[in-house]
Amino acid sequence: MKRKIPAVLIAILVSHLSISQDLNYAKNVVKTLASDEFKGRGYVGQGDQIAAKYIGAEFRKLGLKSFKKNYFQKFTTSVNTFPSAMNLALNGTKKSAGIDYLIEAGSPGVKGEFNTVTLPIEDMLNQHLLSGKLRSSEGQFLVIPTFNRKDYTNEQQKRITEVINFIKYHPDNPASGSIILTNDKLTWGGSTTRFTKPSFIVDNDSSTRNIEKVTVHVENKYFEQYKSQNVIGYLEGEKSDSLIVLIAHYDHLGMMGSEALFPGANDNASGVAMLLNLAKHYQSNKPKYNTVFIAFGGEELGLLGAKHFVENPLFELSRIKFLVNFDISGTGDEGIQVVNGKLYKEEFDRLVRINSEKNLLAQVKIRGEACNSDHCMFHMKKVPCFFIYTLGGIQAYHDIYDKSETLPLTEFEDYFRLITQFVDEL
Ligand SMILES: [Zn+2]
Repeated sequence: MKRKIPAVLIAILVSHLSISQDLNYAKNVVKTLASDEFKGRGYVGQGDQIAAKYIGAEFRKLGLKSFKKNYFQKFTTSVNTFPSAMNLALNGTKKSAGIDYLIEAGSPGVKGEFNTVTLPIEDMLNQHLLSGKLRSSEGQFLVIPTFNRKDYTNEQQKRITEVINFIKYHPDNPASGSIILTNDKLTWGGSTTRFTKPSFIVDNDSSTRNIEKVTVHVENKYFEQYKSQNVIGYLEGEKSDSLIVLIAHYDHLGMMGSEALFPGANDNASGVAMLLNLAKHYQSNKPKYNTVFIAFGGEELGLLGAKHFVENPLFELSRIKFLVNFDISGTGDEGIQVVNGKLYKEEFDRLVRINSEKNLLAQVKIRGEACNSDHCMFHMKKVPCFFIYTLGGIQAYHDIYDKSETLPLTEFEDYFRLITQFVDEL
């Protein structure tokens, strides 16, 4: 005869089971989006399309409805890419893309061997010396040695920035390109603009002490009109007068040449994992309000997908009761940071209360407004919103090290519990 298991124990077992399945699902989403096949979800090899298709297929599996005939909202952008050759050697020593150096995202292609002119900071701060150095750099590469900003006055720092920007971006710079040495972590970006001269930021080490020869071969491809897309679905709730909107950008930096891939596991495969997990949860637990799920494209190029959406909304933005943006959700060892917490204090206090009642995350930190992710486009349209990101853990960011293998999602379940409870109380 089977022993009867108390109902409460079954409930605990079942809830535990479903939560752990969610974590597996989240891990799988991060692993998939950050895998080589997704090409860093940028514009080389249409990584953005591959990612959007995958998210659309997940939306379908989870039973999300679409506002239009499908989940995709197209937008176009210009974008500069590096799909193939990416070779740099200094004094004949080959440097590794992504590890030893980054190319400025707006650089054109370049091929050849160049002599160099070194431009120390002291020369930048003297107009006479600067003009002479710039004139003598025609057809050569300028090399800018490392320096410590703190050694200079605010005015000098401003001048240094101006000169470096001139060298990187101004067509009147007579040099053929530039090498900027740094002791800082290499952090890449994206660019919708193509500039006239190539520029490299190179990790400073013993081999970069006296650069005399630069051998380089880079191919770029600039798209005037690249078609990317947002992925948008929703679930019906008990009430349809107001909407809850949950968002996460799926795009990342893509590839810098054919070898250096920027996986973007934490930024922001993890946020998409949170978005999909929430969709999965509300598909089996009917939400109070109609709930919209948006995976945005073009965030890294300047919040482009979100900008397109608020200019071409699929519903009246004034119907949004609250919006939460998940951008970087993969750690949480030191809790979470809540952008706009100071503006929506009642909602912020609710997060804090739930967190302490349920003993979930190390801390829920308050922050004011910040236009640093997609929520900003909604915030500027007066939509009440939070942007939440996790704190602590691995510090990889906009580099080749932001991988799924090193993103264990340690606090993901507690973070998920906090968010579902918060949304349910809205
Ligand atoms: Zn991001």
